[in-house]
Amino acid sequence: MEVVRASAMGFCFGVRDALEIAMTLERPEETTLYGALVHNEEVEVALAARGFRKVAEGERRGGVATPRALITAHGISERERSALRASGAELVDTTCPLVRRAHDAALALQSAGFHVVVLGRAGHVEVRGLTGDLASFTVVGSAAEVQRWPHAKLGVIAQTTVPEREAAELLRAIRAANPDAEVQFRDTICEPTKQRQRAVEALVREVDVVVVVGGRSSHNTKQLALTCQRAGKPVHWVQGPEELEARWFEGCAKVGLTAGTSTPDERIAAVEVALLALRE
Ligand code: SF4
Repeated sequence: MEVVRASAMGFCFGVRDALEIAMTLERPEETTLYGALVHNEEVEVALAARGFRKVAEGERRGGVATPRALITAHGISERERSALRASGAELVDTTCPLVRRAHDAALALQSAGFHVVVLGRAGHVEVRGLTGDLASFTVVGSAAEVQRWPHAKLGVIAQTTVPEREAAELLRAIRAANPDAEVQFRDTICEPTKQRQRAVEALVREVDVVVVVGGRSSHNTKQLALTCQRAGKPVHWVQGPEELEARWFEGCAKVGLTAGTSTPDERIAAVEVALLALRE
């Protein structure tokens, strides 16, 4: 059995940079991670071992019990940032520049009089940050949620990890349902997401089955798995080698391997080694 790696997979620069800051930060015990730095359980355990405190994403209330708060690569709204500062916390900001670009696009559209439509998952931490400073917005996660809205101007942006194809479909549906509105789209999908999606689309054509490695709460890992499913290819989403089952690969000559942007290289390598061991 051959293992074929996707041409792009694993950590993106935004996650890598945020992790490097966290792993080299002095006095981690005086710092609260304001949400999950990355959506990967193994990395979270390593951060906890360094001594960081943490506030879960669903429990963020604008204050922390330590002198410092670390804002994750997913970003937060200015409103939330101000609340943290007002609570006396010094901020260590690891917001990815491509998430900042999406914030800027949303605010510019709002300033120009557009009702902002965010293509993405309602409730996801990045989407909450993107919409937190907006007065008028709608989050759309599927074509079924597209409506005819009472706005003359619709400004559409995307969560950075939405697949390009999905964004294009939703945009078409929005234009069709709002024929009288001026609809403008700002492509805020990040380049690493595009590369990983294109790589998995090429991979599925080449292999019999795909293994996707990544944390259960990782949005972009889920999107990789969904892309394989849509292509009609058997796909198994695992967090590590211990979850692999030999029966998944019976009769398979080629296994594709990909991973979300929050999956460490070592974890991908461990899965690859375990896959190769299955043929022995
Ligand atoms: S997935 Fe994209 S936007 Fe998110 S941290 Fe990585 S590079 Fe930045």
